[in-house]
Amino acid sequence: MTKWVYGFDQVEEAEVFCENDWDTVRGLLGGKGANLGDMTRIGVPVPPGFTISTAACNAYLQSDGVMPADLLDQVSSALKKIEKASGKQFGDTANPLLVSCRSGAKFSMPGMMDTVLNIGLNDSVVEGLIPLTDDPHFVYDSYRRLVQMFGSVVLGVRDEPFEAVLAAYRQKRDVAEDSDLSADDLRAITGEFKQIVERFSGRPFPDDPFEQLRLAIEAVFRSWDGKRARDYRNAAKIPHDLGTAVNIQTMVFGNMGLNSATGVAMSRNATTGESGLEGDYLTNAQGEDVVAGIRATKPMTELAKEMPEIYTQYETIAQSLERHYRDMQDMEFTIERGTLWILQTRNGKRTAQAAVKIAVDMAEEGLIGRDEAVQRISPEQVEFFLHPSFTPESKQEALDAGRHLTTALNVSPGAAVGVIAFDADLAEEWAQSGRSVVMVRPETKPDDVHGMLAAEGILTTRGGRTSHAALVARQFGKPAVVGANDLEIDLSERTMKVGNETINEGEWISIDGTTGEVFSGKLETRTPDLENPALRRLLEWADDVRDIGVWANADHPADAELARSYGAEGIGLVRTEHMFFDPERLPIVQRMIMATSPSERTEALAQLLPFQRRDFTGLFRAMDGLPVTIRLIDPPLHEFLPSYEEITADLADLKIQLLSARSLPEVDQLLVRVESAEHLLHEVEALREANPMLGLRGVRLGLMMPALTRMQVRAIFEAAIAVKRDGVSVHPKIMIPLVAHVNELARQRASLEEEAALVMNETGVDIDYQFGTMIEIPRAALTARQIVEHAEFVSFGTNDLTQMTYGISRDDAEKAFLVKYLEEGILDRNPFASIDEEGVGRLMSIAVREGRAARPGLEAGICGEHGGDPASIAFCRSLGLDYVSCSPPRVPVARLAAAQAALRDAAPTDISEMVPV
Ligand code: ADP
Ligand code: MG
Ligand code: MG
Repeated sequence: MTKWVYGFDQVEEAEVFCENDWDTVRGLLGGKGANLGDMTRIGVPVPPGFTISTAACNAYLQSDGVMPADLLDQVSSALKKIEKASGKQFGDTANPLLVSCRSGAKFSMPGMMDTVLNIGLNDSVVEGLIPLTDDPHFVYDSYRRLVQMFGSVVLGVRDEPFEAVLAAYRQKRDVAEDSDLSADDLRAITGEFKQIVERFSGRPFPDDPFEQLRLAIEAVFRSWDGKRARDYRNAAKIPHDLGTAVNIQTMVFGNMGLNSATGVAMSRNATTGESGLEGDYLTNAQGEDVVAGIRATKPMTELAKEMPEIYTQYETIAQSLERHYRDMQDMEFTIERGTLWILQTRNGKRTAQAAVKIAVDMAEEGLIGRDEAVQRISPEQVEFFLHPSFTPESKQEALDAGRHLTTALNVSPGAAVGVIAFDADLAEEWAQSGRSVVMVRPETKPDDVHGMLAAEGILTTRGGRTSHAALVARQFGKPAVVGANDLEIDLSERTMKVGNETINEGEWISIDGTTGEVFSGKLETRTPDLENPALRRLLEWADDVRDIGVWANADHPADAELARSYGAEGIGLVRTEHMFFDPERLPIVQRMIMATSPSERTEALAQLLPFQRRDFTGLFRAMDGLPVTIRLIDPPLHEFLPSYEEITADLADLKIQLLSARSLPEVDQLLVRVESAEHLLHEVEALREANPMLGLRGVRLGLMMPALTRMQVRAIFEAAIAVKRDGVSVHPKIMIPLVAHVNELARQRASLEEEAALVMNETGVDIDYQFGTMIEIPRAALTARQIVEHAEFVSFGTNDLTQMTYGISRDDAEKAFLVKYLEEGILDRNPFASIDEEGVGRLMSIAVREGRAARPGLEAGICGEHGGDPASIAFCRSLGLDYVSCSPPRVPVARLAAAQAALRDAAPTDISEMVPV
């Protein structure tokens, strides 16, 4: 005979049946039922009851709605046991037992049947209950609730007719709330409700308590197959064959006077993580009233004053439940005439801030291990600490003032406040003049990127999670909300309409990319909290288990300092070309590029040298004692010159001026300018390439214009020597970009070594340095054996490597087809966000393996943006890379992700959770 029913006191039997696997017990009894039994076992006061297993539900559904043969018998005997223990009887008029019927699957999910309370009432039981409670109002209110709940939840009668009756009575008595109606009215209403039930469901409300129970149980079973439940399971990837359990539990009443109450409380603060009960309750009320918000609830601190003994008892229970489940608990409770009952417990939801504090505190209290604390926090939760958010007060104020405009897709986290600019140029212009700007567009294009970079945040009215705006915003860490189609932008009027409100360009707006909310006006923000002591602690523990280094990409001393304070152990990428775009230097750079003689070029380079030296000095000082990897110039030179179109326009303009010139000196002056513009045009034309990405850039540039990279190396060594003299421990690593063939590297390196030796000889100071290369062209990966003969380290530039492996240019792809690819599932993830393990990853794996075979101990790292992506970090670790290098704000995220990858590897408990490598 199958055992379908388990008393709350029979959880051990269930465990034996499930071979002592708690997860299987939760599968059999559902999450709610398993925990009710578990709490009963450890002595927590739980109203007696029993659980009908998910197996019974499955049997019922499989046989098209026939109850398993002996299920009802098992239910009766379980009821008898409760009756015996409580001295009450189901259906008895003198001392009636009432029960609730609660659904509960393995995973909590929407669409399941709502709880029916007060089962067991009928006309004669009600008469018995009145003297017992001394409260006819309460009794009739419970009764009319049962008929209504039973009618709608179990028999599927619509709510409207019930509500219409209640409304009519309220109007007749001129009262606002149902609870203000008299006991007599409630009795009359119950009668009308019964008629409604009969009329709409075609059957009378069952007077027989056991019949009520049977129908409620069947309804719970059926709700598993309801449309909402099915849809949810499809979306959440929950199997359809789990079934739901049903819990039948003795009713306890929080509405029996002033020494009764009901509420919900967490064992710790779910917002801050601080210890101590946190929650709300109501005196003299039933469970659902707390959620319904009809009456203002009281905080738990009040309970400590009102019922101090109960409060202390509750604290003790909360602590033992935490010890038992080793996590923060969310508990439902009811106090019936001075006796505390716990009705549900589960792991509580919490904010990122609370999650970190609770994990760290629990490890320090010895409740969980440090490794477990590290595993409990997701990289996204760490990310939360990096982004500004609105202060709760200013958000509330904005909500109260009706300034919430809309909520749309939250595609890039963080809060941003600024004035509205409807195009990129204006956004940039205003930002440069010191205003905070939020760029608002129907959608964005690559032409808008300069405005997006200048803006504090981005808001679009169209597009989805993989739209251009979303991709770019995430890439640059700009808060963004997209797809806000409640907003209507009129670009010619420079206004935005929301409902019948019109907002003008230049007015303030506040967006929250973490939640997707948009407010008009200026909200106050709270800056990121990386100093948070709990987070620091957690990341230290992560460092203890991490076995891959975390470095940062930084171009400026301030970035390097920031990265170091976030825990970076080196700089994996300094992009030197950024230093060339500085407005003070650009004219010199342009002179250098367009030099007509070697001496002219040498002169321009000599002028650039002190600038570069200063850049490096600052970086070396900031990273005292740690490696700094400097990549020599990479982009094609035309990027430093004005565009062809721009010069042609200038030229045309000059020629018109020439025609209307009034004096000879003016003509002379204009002619000089025409000549120089023509020269510039000529140079730009000469440097024009059909495909600059595959043109003269990287090491090719250093080979064609050796003086340029030699100047960079001189600057590096002069800077290193200067700081070394000041006692700084300096370790430059010079990285040669875009090598495809070993000869490129060998030739370039020889020339650069020469320059390095020269500087060291001139000064008599030796520097601890290395030469290495980026691996970002498939050919370099495939010939790593040869490449590493001339490279002491390699670093994967996975952005270019991905472009070259896929044969697509990222900008063009994101503009044209990548979004479609992702939408249509041609690619299931963006290879520029997460390393494509099968293709790009395979090349990396070949390069590491063969490179290390040729040069044992070869240092290998990654400096592409992927270095900050958790999945890519785990992959790099599996390849045995020495470090990942990412943008400074990603450093804490990378530290945690790297530790989690190591821990997953150490204890592969669940194969489905292992990272594919
Ligand atoms: P939900 O999943 O919606 O929380 P529950 O089954 O937990 O559904 O119950 C809804 C409300 O009814 C809760 O406040 C719960 O505490 C209360 N409740 C359920 N069973 C009982 C009972 N036997 N006695 C008193 N209150 C109950
Ligand atoms: Mg509940
Ligand atoms: Mg590159």
